[in-house]
Amino acid sequence: MAEPADGAILTARDVWVAVEVAGAIKPIVQGGRLTVPRGGILGLVGESGSGKTQFVRSIMGLSSLEPGVISGSAIYQIGDQPPIDVLADVDDFSPFRPPQGDELLPVRQRIGWSWLVWRRRFRKRLDLLRRLGVGFIFQNPMGALNPYLKVGTQITEAVAVARPDAGAGELRDGALHWLAEVQLRADDATLSLYPHELSGGMAQRVMIALALAGEPHFVVADEPTTGLDSHIRREIVGLLHRIMAGGELSGIVISHDLPMIARLCDRLAVMFRGKVVEEGPIAALGDADSPNHPYTRELKERAEDLAQGRHSSRREVGESPDSTGAVARAGCVYRSRCLVYKANLVERDRCETVKPVLHDIADVHRVACHVDGREVLEDLAAVSAAWRKGELGD
Ligand code: SF4
Repeated sequence: MAEPADGAILTARDVWVAVEVAGAIKPIVQGGRLTVPRGGILGLVGESGSGKTQFVRSIMGLSSLEPGVISGSAIYQIGDQPPIDVLADVDDFSPFRPPQGDELLPVRQRIGWSWLVWRRRFRKRLDLLRRLGVGFIFQNPMGALNPYLKVGTQITEAVAVARPDAGAGELRDGALHWLAEVQLRADDATLSLYPHELSGGMAQRVMIALALAGEPHFVVADEPTTGLDSHIRREIVGLLHRIMAGGELSGIVISHDLPMIARLCDRLAVMFRGKVVEEGPIAALGDADSPNHPYTRELKERAEDLAQGRHSSRREVGESPDSTGAVARAGCVYRSRCLVYKANLVERDRCETVKPVLHDIADVHRVACHVDGREVLEDLAAVSAAWRKGELGD
């Protein structure tokens, strides 16, 4: 088994996820990697179709039972337990393998083992992982809650996972405790509600209570404020901040909402069309002078434009990802939108022919870009301003 990174609760490396659409194999996640330090919260950002949810679902074991995850490792080191790689052996069982050499797409391979064997092994690892404490806050709480069970029944079941020896009274007290923790009225009336009787904000709070009731060490929140109005969104972000800021929980927040990521997280990973293009401290988002991958700079600008009520000044140029979010091409996947490339501030041949890989530009800060030296990446705000004024040509 691969080694986990020092001090990390989760180390994911070289994760490939692909789907087959009309006979063509489409890569959804291409060599994805991220590290979540123990006690740290990582924000995973990227636009729709960037593969961020698929990436996290695969390393959390939520979609690995299908032939979508084709290789990689996702090692959890929780407490003093031995590390668990939930994806161990997946490449022996997958019908595809990642591209090698000049290949752009995953390639079909003969499977030496039965999926039934893989499922059995995989379920065992997942059960262990759940018992060690992993919680999920899903994107759509109404879809994730069981519509036929009362709120109290669902939270009590989650409490029972963490406290298998607890009696009925203790489980009820536990459910009331978690209702109070998420600032819902902690009484029998709330326990008796069915999901369809909850407002959107209440449903999200119940979802958070469910995730916490299992007393997890590691929590994933997938777009936790999607679909909520701005007032409720602020409340939920405040609640998540209170829960996550203590330094006891580790986790991942998936979102395209940069201000929320900046508030909740201490590390950042940025995905573009299936690839992680930047991984580093959250300060790289908040500091205007920080060097960034050109795509992260674009995301920052979009957030600034949105905050000031402006339409984004960046024009969409070049191809958009298809419905699977996949783009497989030689060279850098971002170049059709990259200002550094357009402005000839980089050796363009390399961008067109060689895939950039993540490399260090500072302590624990990596970008996947061919720009040598960090000055150009530091100056991206000025490059962008010149672009807006039309000073760099088209
Ligand atoms: S590798 Fe080239 S095209 Fe890609 S982000 Fe860097 S400068 Fe832009």
